[in-house]
Amino acid sequence: MKLVVQFFLLFILYSGFSQGNKDCILEKPLKSVNLDNSNSNTNSDYINIYKKIETYIPDENTPIKHIKIAVNIFTGPGTIQNTAASVNAVNDMIYYLNDFYTKLDSATYPIDGVETLTDTKIRFDLDGRIFFYEGTSLYNSSSMPALEKCIAGIDSARLDNLNIYLTDGGKAQAYAIPPNPGFILKGGGGYTASSLYGSQGVYISTIKPNYVNSQTLAHEIGHCLDLFHTYEPSCCHETCDGSDPEYLYDLFGKNPPEKCWEIGGFGCEITPGQNICTNNIMGGNNMLNYYFSPMQIGKMHRALSIKTVRKYVKDGAYNPAPHKINKSEIWNFDIRWYSDIVIEPGAVLTVTGKIYMAEQARIIVKHGASLCIDGGIVTSSGKEWLGVIVKGKIINVKQLLRAEGKVIYKNGGEIENAAK
Ligand SMILES: [Zn+2]
Repeated sequence: MKLVVQFFLLFILYSGFSQGNKDCILEKPLKSVNLDNSNSNTNSDYINIYKKIETYIPDENTPIKHIKIAVNIFTGPGTIQNTAASVNAVNDMIYYLNDFYTKLDSATYPIDGVETLTDTKIRFDLDGRIFFYEGTSLYNSSSMPALEKCIAGIDSARLDNLNIYLTDGGKAQAYAIPPNPGFILKGGGGYTASSLYGSQGVYISTIKPNYVNSQTLAHEIGHCLDLFHTYEPSCCHETCDGSDPEYLYDLFGKNPPEKCWEIGGFGCEITPGQNICTNNIMGGNNMLNYYFSPMQIGKMHRALSIKTVRKYVKDGAYNPAPHKINKSEIWNFDIRWYSDIVIEPGAVLTVTGKIYMAEQARIIVKHGASLCIDGGIVTSSGKEWLGVIVKGKIINVKQLLRAEGKVIYKNGGEIENAAK
């Protein structure tokens, strides 16, 4: 009898403890799309959760994300000059920019059942970074690569900011560089940053920064945050293809292309209840406050996790609501993550990609759960993150029957910059 009990216990311990290892083996190895956030990544966890716009629509726990910006002004004959008045005008422009992302209007063309969000939870921090460049012919240029090369030559640390470039008025239309990768399959357009780790920026042309420049900047930075136009005629639309997961049904309705795209542009006349011309941030109109739909806001926050623009987010954004992994998942993508990750009993999180954890965040591996770092890296988005906590200390008989949580390293997988 005693022998039978011992055997029974051994069996339970063996089956429980070994579960993590068994599930850590990828049954069907994914093809080499590691670190690939593009449409070629066919991992269902990526497609159905982490690439999905709805995953990122903010709630009351979503932290405000602060984006580091800098304003670079190239001076020359007849341009804005390096004076206290110019600095004040730039500060005012950035103040209004933040206002547009903080105090949102409701939609002039609402879609039934769509909630209005009153704050994007995105801010732009200038922190005094207004740089003047004197004595260069670039005051006449609108080439962002040329302007960027100039500022990098003076101080490469300036590329750590989302840069706004300002040159002589009337020379060129404002434009922005959207993040990489681009997702829209049809109906989109424009070009993006060259890589997930490339540079982005906004170009504007003015001789005196003013309120209209703030409106322009709010729209152009929307492009940097992965938004496209809602209006026509224009380049670079959001998609009107209802089968595309990028389709913004909370903006264009459930029956595309019935309400897609809007017709309008700067100065068009808004008729409430119609989508001919609206107050949308990407509608190109001049407004005191703009509307952002929940999916547009989700799209921006998604970009701050899986697209180039995330690199400009200041460390310190932390969501106190943990992200729970209830069933086994594979993370074969490259993501910045702003909350704790809790792997629930029985689930295995396999990391073949790269995770940048917020400095206040932890990964908690519960009883019977596994974290399998299979060639992937879990690191910090700042100096350090809080590291992995494994549950499974046996303190009573009931817990004896639970398997310990496990952290398994394979194929050179690593945890970096963890405080413990
Ligand atoms: Zn635009």
